[in-house]
Amino acid sequence: MKNIIKVLKTFCHTFLELLFPESGVCFICDSYDEEIGEDHICDECKQKLKFIGEHRCSICGRPLELGYIPDKCHECIKSIHYFTKVIAPLEYTGITKDAIYKYKYGKKAYMYKALGHLMVQALQNEDIEDIDLIVPVPLHRSKLVNRGFNQAELLGKYISNYFNIPMDSKNLIRARKTKIQNKLSKKERRKNIKGAFKTKRSKVFEEKKILLIDDIYTTGATVDECSKVLLHAGAEEIVVLVLARGQGSGNRGQ
Ligand SMILES: [Zn+2]
Ligand SMILES: [Zn+2]
Repeated sequence: MKNIIKVLKTFCHTFLELLFPESGVCFICDSYDEEIGEDHICDECKQKLKFIGEHRCSICGRPLELGYIPDKCHECIKSIHYFTKVIAPLEYTGITKDAIYKYKYGKKAYMYKALGHLMVQALQNEDIEDIDLIVPVPLHRSKLVNRGFNQAELLGKYISNYFNIPMDSKNLIRARKTKIQNKLSKKERRKNIKGAFKTKRSKVFEEKKILLIDDIYTTGATVDECSKVLLHAGAEEIVVLVLARGQGSGNRGQ
């Protein structure tokens, strides 16, 4: 009974947050200014966001060091990913890191509008006309109950509505609970996530060019595993869109 009440409270809270996001309020720092528009971020916070520049790996989006010539980072030269490309507007650092933490763990579901808008802006610079379907990285059911929402699904919903591209959040599922990835090495992450995803009605992915959505890209283990499963289900191509990109193994060009 206690659990049911907890779940209901979480869902009611999430529902209200989604319904009533305050206008004129910066969703990142909570300051009020009537000038704040549909992006829900104040000018001061915008200045602090660290955008990834043009000089980045053409596959995984990693920022490359000045003077590094190839268009792929060392890692993408030596290893193959199941996705073709990662689009990531921001570096996972500073204010972006804090904002994502607040969104996910502070039960601030309404922040998907501000964060989703940053992802929309990143997509506007890309060729996305042939994207058929948006698919968010799924959460395990137990995590969904605790958090009350899937952060990737809300971001996907915003992007789907904005560009009028359909989204499917039901047919790629997380069948197995996995350990929290942030303390694991790259190798451990791959092992931890292997076999965690399954498709239900795989037909919906057949011959589709899919935009796979997540909030953060660190080593890419999660989105790569999802991409593998989607390709296995018959998808034609997977492009990944995340809000922020970590440095992975800590190096830039190498
Ligand atoms: Zn602000
Ligand atoms: Zn790369």
